[in-house]
Amino acid sequence: MKIDIPKHILCALDMLKANGHESYIVGGCVRDSLINKVPSDWDICTCALPEETASVFKNFKTILTGIKHGTVCVIIDAFPVEITTFRTDGKYIDNRHPETITFSSSLSEDLKRRDFTINAMAYSKEHGLVDFNGGVNDLKSKIIKCVGDPEKRFGEDALRIMRAIRFSAQLGFRIDDNTKKAIFSKKELLSNISAERITDEFFKLIMSDCYIDILREFEDVIKIFIPHFNSIIKDIMVKKDIRLRLAYALSSSKCNIDDVFGTLVVSKSLKNSVNTILLNQNTSIINDKYNIKKQLSGLGEELLSLVLEFKSYLGQDVSGHIDTMNKILINNECYSLKQLKVSGNNIKSLGVKDNTNIGKVLDYLLKQVISDNLPNEKEALLNEAKAYIINNKF
Ligand code: ATP
Ligand code: MG
Repeated sequence: MKIDIPKHILCALDMLKANGHESYIVGGCVRDSLINKVPSDWDICTCALPEETASVFKNFKTILTGIKHGTVCVIIDAFPVEITTFRTDGKYIDNRHPETITFSSSLSEDLKRRDFTINAMAYSKEHGLVDFNGGVNDLKSKIIKCVGDPEKRFGEDALRIMRAIRFSAQLGFRIDDNTKKAIFSKKELLSNISAERITDEFFKLIMSDCYIDILREFEDVIKIFIPHFNSIIKDIMVKKDIRLRLAYALSSSKCNIDDVFGTLVVSKSLKNSVNTILLNQNTSIINDKYNIKKQLSGLGEELLSLVLEFKSYLGQDVSGHIDTMNKILINNECYSLKQLKVSGNNIKSLGVKDNTNIGKVLDYLLKQVISDNLPNEKEALLNEAKAYIINNKF
């Protein structure tokens, strides 16, 4: 068995070795390589103490912010390479962090502190695959299993609960029975984990291939951080777009729109997109140019496309709406103030001073254009504006 290691990682391993330090690639990159997936990152572990690692790479740019935890980040060929000293973790506090860590010279100790057997393998050219915890077997049987006693491991660090269900969704692996039992018995501890970390894992979960099965199976776990979560959703293909995936995951939750995200940390723009999708999921939109232009004007092209795509997931026939929208866009027909051939300044020069009134005139003109009562041409618009201004005594 041979793993194809990228050049910059090989360079780091060779330099450590040349200085007499045993080192390996470890964790997710070994797991992914064994199942022919491209690893998202490559981690190195070594018996060298952090200061020794820093000294090996003294001619390279290094980032030492993680040095207390044993990690030296070296920039090689413009890639950041994380090199961490073998370590054992002391007593855990706050269900997340070890109170102390101790550097070790033993790879086997280091692998024991890792979360799941499939994540607890190391590899080097010299030693081949090192697997003290049955990772290869579990990888073959497609099983996520804690290293050691699951209850103890989730008690130490409850984020591992989220990692377990996230890996299960990403890899399509089942969770070992004892590990699963402990996930449920320790689920309340998730309330001690930072909302940012939970959000990060939850997003990875819902962007995975097998997310729906996992949402169903672990509904009670998800309810710890999204109390109104309801997993009754059909198993359909939803595009891998976080806005659509999040809206779909939350679409069965019966609650006020403000509560739908629970304690997830969601950016304003993502929240706005998901809320718009959810608020429109069951509204009917009439398929004619006027109504679609009104929707385009209110939501914009991107969000209306998402709303229509989402409606199609729910079985609503929106193919006609999509055609209408595409025609409007292709013909560059006016549906927004930006496209209107007169501006606020034009209205100002007709003598309207007040900004609110300028806005009213523009809105009126846009409505006339959208309704096909008026062409989007400057002269016609200005004439109509003059009449409107006189009628309304602006
Ligand atoms: P990904 O593909 O998401 O990067 P990964 O397994 O590489 O998956 P990382 O967060 O990059 O995950 O962590 C690298 C390795 O560090 C893991 O494979 C595992 O061995 C170990 N690890 C990470 N987080 C924990 C944790 N909370 N508890 C124990 N070990 C962990
Ligand atoms: Mg990783």
